[in-house]
Amino acid sequence: MNYYSLHKKASNVSFKEAVIRGLAPDKGLYFPESITPLSNEFITNISSYSNEAIALQAIQQFIGDEIPKPVLLEIIKETLCFDFPVVDIENEIKTLELFHGPTMAFKDVGARFMARCLGYFNRNNQEEVTVLVATSGDTGGAVASGFLGVKNVNVVILYPSKKVSEVQEKQLTTLGRNIKALEVSGTFDDCQKMVKNAFLDESLLSKMQLTSANSINIARWLPQMFYFFFAYKQLTNKNKKVVFSVPSGNYGNICAGMLAKKLGLPIHQFIASTNANDVIPEFLATQEYRPKPSVQTISNAMDVGDPSNFIRIQQLYDNKFDALKNDLHSYSYTDYQTREAMLHLYKNCNYIADPHGAVGYLGIKTYQEENPDTQCIFLETAHPVKFLDVVEPVIHKSIEYPPQIKAVIDKKKQASPIENYEQLKSFLLSN
Ligand SMILES: *Cc1c(COP(=O)(O)O)cnc(C)c1O
Repeated sequence: MNYYSLHKKASNVSFKEAVIRGLAPDKGLYFPESITPLSNEFITNISSYSNEAIALQAIQQFIGDEIPKPVLLEIIKETLCFDFPVVDIENEIKTLELFHGPTMAFKDVGARFMARCLGYFNRNNQEEVTVLVATSGDTGGAVASGFLGVKNVNVVILYPSKKVSEVQEKQLTTLGRNIKALEVSGTFDDCQKMVKNAFLDESLLSKMQLTSANSINIARWLPQMFYFFFAYKQLTNKNKKVVFSVPSGNYGNICAGMLAKKLGLPIHQFIASTNANDVIPEFLATQEYRPKPSVQTISNAMDVGDPSNFIRIQQLYDNKFDALKNDLHSYSYTDYQTREAMLHLYKNCNYIADPHGAVGYLGIKTYQEENPDTQCIFLETAHPVKFLDVVEPVIHKSIEYPPQIKAVIDKKKQASPIENYEQLKSFLLSN
């Protein structure tokens, strides 16, 4: 499969090249040249397929013959080595739990899949590739865990000092081996600027092969569509209209859901649920896309003021506003409402949600008031333990560490402090 740049000024590339490059040379996101719906027979009988078989069917056309089928199947198996349960919450409201992976946030699937694709493409290289990534929290842990031990790949993660949770910091600083963490005295934006500088620094690029692992990479974006197939597979009543509410920040996850719909999965409606960062709800209300500086909230993985994947969503709808508006609703909620929702879910449904999942739940409540005859699923994108300092004071209950967290929480943090780009550059060149 070939991919074109959405800025349309760079040449088309193979899947392999798109994965290695991340972003096209004209700074556009890559998009598949064609999208062919899956057979009705497959969709109708989806409950009889294993998760691996579903994933293979869904992603095969986007890779073509660039990874041999048995290798691709092995990559899928290793990527999906945990459960994706659908859990009942209230009448016609369910949640799809995406936090059962090694770092307990949904980004595990994309990071694991991308790491293994890159490992395959690099299998015969003598030279090493360095994956450079900035994180505000969840991405760093998922990338660290996903890429751990992948041959010929070094990973360097920049995170803002004292601005990630303790669990998140341990997940990205304790693994060792091919994973290095840099603790930046500054904000997430400072980390991201340094990473951008590195990708523009010709004197650095001439000495090493750098690649990024952020959510615009197609190998992180595409496998996220699996979630929607896995949820649909588990529904007992497939005749009632299906609605997904997706807590959204960069809109990669929901965009993958929309791709699943394009492949034939019968999804009636998408809800992009978000916090005070309301660029998309505003866009759908006014038809004007106005990026803004991000606002800090308690659901901080969605603190994005210019969602990078939204351009892919528009492309899926041929940039036709009315068609998009038909399939996508979007609502914004305050931190106060988010805390109320967490408390309601705990008291009335005996369910502990993280702040992002709670925002997803709120989206469904708003939608169902007008559209009662639907079955709605919100995605629970992270385990509440990842946002302990927000969740515990709301529900007045302490949350036990799951085994994945216990395994890292007492390990020693290993991170090199840096302050500026020159220090990043000399770190990269000396490692
Ligand atoms: C990254 C993340 C999101 C946002 O996902 P996008 O694909 O960027 O929209 C939501 N919730 C959690 C917990 C995340 O880590």
